[in-house]
Amino acid sequence: MSRFVAPIPSRRAFLQTVTGAASTAALAGQQPGGGDEPKIGWAVVGLGGLAQNQILPAFAKCRFSRVTGLVSGDPVKAARLAAQYGVNQRNIYNYGSYDQLASNPEIQAVYIVLPNGMHAEYTIRGAKAGKHILTEKPMANTPQDCRQMIDACRSANRKLMVAYRVRYEPHNMTAIQLARGREIGTLKVIVADAGFNIGDPTQWRLNAKLAGGGSLMDIGIYALQATRYITGEEPVEVKATQYSTPGDPRFKQVEETILFQLRFPGGVLANCSSSYGHAGTNRYRVLGDKGWIDLEPATSYTGLRLRVRKGSVIEEHNLNQADHFAAEMDHFSEAILRDGPVRTPGEDGLQDVRIMMAIYESARTGNTVRLTA
Ligand code: NAD
Repeated sequence: MSRFVAPIPSRRAFLQTVTGAASTAALAGQQPGGGDEPKIGWAVVGLGGLAQNQILPAFAKCRFSRVTGLVSGDPVKAARLAAQYGVNQRNIYNYGSYDQLASNPEIQAVYIVLPNGMHAEYTIRGAKAGKHILTEKPMANTPQDCRQMIDACRSANRKLMVAYRVRYEPHNMTAIQLARGREIGTLKVIVADAGFNIGDPTQWRLNAKLAGGGSLMDIGIYALQATRYITGEEPVEVKATQYSTPGDPRFKQVEETILFQLRFPGGVLANCSSSYGHAGTNRYRVLGDKGWIDLEPATSYTGLRLRVRKGSVIEEHNLNQADHFAAEMDHFSEAILRDGPVRTPGEDGLQDVRIMMAIYESARTGNTVRLTA
C-alpha cells in the first residue's frame, strides 16, 4: 500500500534535501534586480500572446535582464507596450528596420517570439546585427535552418540559446536530478503526453509554412525534450503513427495527433503523444525499477506538480513556482555577462528538430527510423 507523505512544508527543508542546480534555479528569476546589478538590455521580437502575457511581465522579476527594445509590425501596439514597460520610443523597430539594431548599444540580446517558420531569418539577421539570440521553440522548421542559425551565431561570435523554459525551473530540474541520480533505480520507461483542443483554423499554428508541422512541433516537442533531458541520452530509433480527422478544417496542412516511441541506448523506451484534438493533457511519468517520478502538469507556466514514488512511499515535492521566463532570460544574460555556456544551446534545438523530422518520416512511411549521432 502506498502512503502519501505530506508536502515538504518549508523551502528551507527542501533546500536541505536537494543540492546544486535545482536549488540555484529555485532562487533564479525570483528576485527583483537591485539597482547595482549589471543588466543585459533585451529587445523582444514579435509582440503576440506569449510576448505580452509572459515575457514582457517577466522582466520585472529578472536580476540580470531588462527590456530596452521592441520589434513589431504594429507601431501602435509597440508604442503602447513601450510606454507600459518603460522602453524608449526610439528603440522601437519593425521587421524592415530590424537590422538597424546593429547601431543600438542599449540592446545586447534579442528574444525571438515569432511564428516558428520565422525564427531562422530573425536569428540570422539578429546575429549579423551583433546581438546574442534567444529563440523560441521549436528552433526552426528544418535541421538545415537550425544549422544556418548555429553557423550565423558562431560566425558573429554571438551566443545562441533555445527557449526551453522548463529546463530553468525547479520541478523539471529536480526530476532530472532524481532520475539521473538513480533515486528510482534503473530507468525503464517514460510516458509523456501533451495536447489541447486548438481553435481558430486560420491561425499560423495550423499553417505548414509558418508552423513547420502540427501538434508535434508545437507541444509534442515538450514530451520529446523530457525524454532526452530525463535520460541524458539521445534516442537511437523512432517509430510513429499519426491521425487527422478527415474534413476538419484545422488539419488541412498539419497533423492533429501523433504518437511516437523512442528507443534510448541505455535501454529506456519512451511512449509519447501530442494532439491538437483532445481536451488537454500535459504530463510525464518516469518509471524505474524502484519507483517513479511524475510531473503533472509538467510544463504549464505555473502550478507544476512533482510526485515521486520510492518503494511504497509517494512524496509530493513542494517546490518554488519560479517564473520560467525570468529564469531562462537571466540564465542567458548571466552567460553573456560571464561569457559562459548556455544550458540549452542551438545544438539542443537542432537535435529536437532532427528527431521530429524522423518522427514525421516514420509516421509517413510506417517504418522504424534509425537515428545516427
Ligand atoms: P502569437 O500568434 O500570439 O504571436 C505571434 C506574433 O508574431 C504576433 O505578434 C504576430 O503579429 C507576429 N507575426 C509576424 N509575422 C507574422 C506572420 N507572418 N504570421 C503570423 N504572425 C506574425 O504566437 P505566440 O503564441 O506568441 O508564439 C510565438 C512563438 O512562441 C512560437 O514560436 C511558439 O512556438 C512560441 N511559444 C512558446 C511558448 C513557451 O511556453 N515557450 C508558449 C507559446 C508560444
